[in-house]
Amino acid sequence: MKTVTDMDPQELREHKEEFLRVLNAWFIAEHRDLPWRDLDAPNPYHVWISEIMLQQTRVSAVVDYFLRFISELPDIAALASVPDDRLMKLWEGLGYYSRARNLKRCAQVLMHDFDGAMPRDPAALAKLPGIGPYTAGAIASIAFGEPKAAVDGNVLRVFSRLLADRSDISKESTKKAYTELLDELLPYAHNAGHINQAIMDLGATICIPGGEARCSLCPVEGFCKARREGITGELPVKQRAQSRRQEHRVILILENGGKVLVGKRPEQGLLAGLYEYPGARITPKQMEDFEQGPSGKRALKAYESLFGEFGLTAKKARFALRSKHIFSHIEWEMIGLYVETADPCATEALAEKNLYFADAGELKERYALPGAFSAYTNEFLNRRGDIDGSHET
Ligand code: SF4
Repeated sequence: MKTVTDMDPQELREHKEEFLRVLNAWFIAEHRDLPWRDLDAPNPYHVWISEIMLQQTRVSAVVDYFLRFISELPDIAALASVPDDRLMKLWEGLGYYSRARNLKRCAQVLMHDFDGAMPRDPAALAKLPGIGPYTAGAIASIAFGEPKAAVDGNVLRVFSRLLADRSDISKESTKKAYTELLDELLPYAHNAGHINQAIMDLGATICIPGGEARCSLCPVEGFCKARREGITGELPVKQRAQSRRQEHRVILILENGGKVLVGKRPEQGLLAGLYEYPGARITPKQMEDFEQGPSGKRALKAYESLFGEFGLTAKKARFALRSKHIFSHIEWEMIGLYVETADPCATEALAEKNLYFADAGELKERYALPGAFSAYTNEFLNRRGDIDGSHET
């Protein structure tokens, strides 16, 4: 079996000018039209923001976020001074929130040390907060034309097939080998940024995963060893990801006068600094019991321990709405406990614990709630504080 140590890039090396010319022509003719792309005058700030948003997130999901972000924070100076809560609100639903925090930290460093501009040197870029080798290569090549590789999952797949290389693409050694090969080829390109983006687009639209490569449409079919050997469906080789830990959680939707209680999460750890509906970890058995258990006033007695700590006087409660959210390492299986509380509420005591009653407008504009809770937020916004008492006993 071939490994990365004996991959054979000789063919690409020998025909590099033609390979790069074909890719460049294909990119100019067929590139995806994306709001952060400007082939004539790329904007480094736009390239940076889009590359960070695109980490772990599909292009289609990023477009609207990007447009909103750029319209509110049009440059590095605006990003460097945005309040944290507003930044989180702009990022709400994109996930991996440390990316947003690093963006702001990086913008502050750029303002302080680089006169408010992005450096073009990949090594300088890679030292900035939140910018790793891939993003440094992407910014340097796309925004400034520097001949530096940017190897993402798409590029790994395309190269494993071009080279008919059975190395495990989840290994750092494979990424390093492909990065070195591209670094060697790119100085011969007319535009290194076009080549990096061409390979990314090729992987996203033609050399797609799941053994379904659309080789007859591929501009570099003639260079592809896997195509010649009839093994495109066997590549890339990728070790299975580790399975996620599953957590069962009850989500408390505590309502009062058309408002719902939200709390700020700690500044460290999962979903740090974002807002959430209070909740607790439960066992799978408890979740089953909740689904079949009492509702209405009987539920108050049965489940008081879950919301009693908030010092609220509750009128009725019910369980409803199961939902699931998948993080990179954890999977949350959730069930909502809806509690209608009576006036007056101890709002000042709650505020001391970073807990606030939010109305529909504040949920939409002020408090950043992660996508994990969107089923509950949407349900609340649709219902606008009108708890269904039909199950009351
Ligand atoms: S010929 Fe097929 S397998 Fe090879 S790079 Fe093109 S799309 Fe991918």
